[in-house]
Amino acid sequence: MCLGRVLTAVVLLTAARGASITQEALRGHQVWEVSGGLVPQHLVMTGLVDPLDHSGPSRSIRVAPEFASKVKESLHRADLTYRILVHDLSTYLEEEEVREGRSRRDAENITCTCSSCLEPLHSQYMSFCQIERFLADMAQTYPDRINVTSIGKSVEGRDIWLAHLKPTNPLDKSIWVEAGLHAREWISPAVALHLIHRLIHNSSMAGIDAFIIPMANPDGYVYTWTTNRFWRKNRRILASNCDGVDLNRNWDFHFGVGASTDPCSEVYKGPSAFSEPETRALRDAMLKEKDNMVLVLALHSFGQNLLYPWGWSKTVQAPGRDELIATGKVFTFAARKATDVKYNVINSAGDFYFASGATDDWALGMLKTKYAYTLELRDKGTWGFSLPSDNIADCSEEVWQGLNAMVNDIVS
Ligand SMILES: [Zn+2]
Repeated sequence: MCLGRVLTAVVLLTAARGASITQEALRGHQVWEVSGGLVPQHLVMTGLVDPLDHSGPSRSIRVAPEFASKVKESLHRADLTYRILVHDLSTYLEEEEVREGRSRRDAENITCTCSSCLEPLHSQYMSFCQIERFLADMAQTYPDRINVTSIGKSVEGRDIWLAHLKPTNPLDKSIWVEAGLHAREWISPAVALHLIHRLIHNSSMAGIDAFIIPMANPDGYVYTWTTNRFWRKNRRILASNCDGVDLNRNWDFHFGVGASTDPCSEVYKGPSAFSEPETRALRDAMLKEKDNMVLVLALHSFGQNLLYPWGWSKTVQAPGRDELIATGKVFTFAARKATDVKYNVINSAGDFYFASGATDDWALGMLKTKYAYTLELRDKGTWGFSLPSDNIADCSEEVWQGLNAMVNDIVS
């Protein structure tokens, strides 16, 4: 395709989405795959690299051009080698947008817009206004099945929505699903929206109250659509020259272990536990529902791993560890049966890195919810955060089947 046609496609796509696809923030950024061992943690904690896979054995990192020589030197000192997977992320993402635009045109039948949305999309990621419209339309159309309330506002004043899927014959047991805490992990809210839709139209979890937060970090999500597709944190503007707090390091349970004090790091924990309005809103809403809560599932990407606590310690075992593993395997078995995609059950800290201040550790440690997990969705690193949108349907299907099997296992 000639350049002119590419640009036309880009412009058309931009207009269709109502957002800029300029990824200038990532101009010159590269993705490296490191071999020979784990990426030195000081590089992560000081913000010199952005580790793209937090849970899996993959060691892909994003490196900004201004830090490339420092990072190269550090890897060399640690006897690690690397190869460049992506030479320029902004070009890569622009090409991806054109590719995605093509698949969108193939799936012309757009049933969800910012002014009407009765079904979540299978073949494209939804913008924040489409997500809000879907939730509002569901609440208005199916008031017996779903309540939608705002549990608080983000740093920039956007609502954080909670969808309560109401049971037909209440068992006084509930599950909590959180999605979108990390902005760039687009498959996470996409799956959550499909779970909401399935729960409205399907009675397989008839007695269970389901509380679902489809978009826990709306500011970050909007920012990934307008400015920087690889933004992870919230949009707290800090006094330093780096912004944003990692909302999955901001919860008050062994706060600070495996997290950074440097605002330039992608795992910056914030000035204090629950310093951010997003985590405070989630905390307060979860506290209200904690008595009946049997399962907390935080949806992230990528890696295809179901992580069980603790993230803060490699030596202290989580209470109920054996049951967490056994029930986790129920999920992975059902998911595999659904779509033939393999998930692994692994320990948050034990297998790879420390990571405290995450939702699942707090739920198990403070709420005493027996089953608390982080689910890293598709894929295993081929596309990572840029997972093509034609994965949405199958990924939602495997999570739906896995979640049903897990809930049946827990309440039986
Ligand atoms: Zn994440």
